[in-house]
Amino acid sequence: MAVELIPVTIEGETGLDVRVHRQEATVSDLIAAMQLPADDPKILKPFHKQRYAVCRGCVNNCCKYNPIVIDLVAAERLARHHSLNLMQFARQYLALTPDLPYPELRRRPCPFLRQNCCTVYEARALICRLYLCTPMTTRLEKLRCAVLLAGEAALQQRLVELGVAPRSWQPTQLMAALKHSYRAGKLTPEAYRREREQLDLLLERNPFLDGCDYDEVCLRQCCTEDLWQTIFG
Ligand code: SF4
Ligand code: SF4
Repeated sequence: MAVELIPVTIEGETGLDVRVHRQEATVSDLIAAMQLPADDPKILKPFHKQRYAVCRGCVNNCCKYNPIVIDLVAAERLARHHSLNLMQFARQYLALTPDLPYPELRRRPCPFLRQNCCTVYEARALICRLYLCTPMTTRLEKLRCAVLLAGEAALQQRLVELGVAPRSWQPTQLMAALKHSYRAGKLTPEAYRREREQLDLLLERNPFLDGCDYDEVCLRQCCTEDLWQTIFG
């Protein structure tokens, strides 16, 4: 098993922790690992009416309430699903406004949810594959966030290339905004260093930018070295 989710107690409730056992573990391995607790009725799901249940059939479902931020792989699949190209899909379905950090579906609840079922299951977004309302340890949350950010930043930058993104999503603007926050005293030097490392990873070394699919992107490529050291072993 490349990625293992381990039941742990978090504030008196059952939650999940993560260990990555292989250097070459991919985003697909994390998706597969997340599916196991989603299908396991012994794992707590506090938003579910019965609390201990499987996700399938949940009518309180997270698709109704959460913003759905879209990653590059999902955007391309969803565009194909609707016989659109990426630019047409973005214009029709995505909110592309400077007040949002990343592209998300314009409508909420999710426009692809009908009668509590996902109508685009094979093309659903990475956030849909990695979401679970079960409590998680900080390192599992950080891993999920790192992978999601990489996929979402890749779509953000592809939309910049296509000329349909707001100016604030351009790499120069993102870097300028970060420097401005630092000069304005909103970030400590350590926080600024971390944010710069993160931005560099998302803009320069992001594996999703090469058009890779979930099974081609190594988790390690999405993580800072500090994060990788806390999850690998
Ligand atoms: S993760 Fe979503 S679908 Fe699953 S139990 Fe929680 S709210 Fe329901
Ligand atoms: S794409 Fe499917 S799984 Fe994702 S929020 Fe929409 S209905 Fe839910």
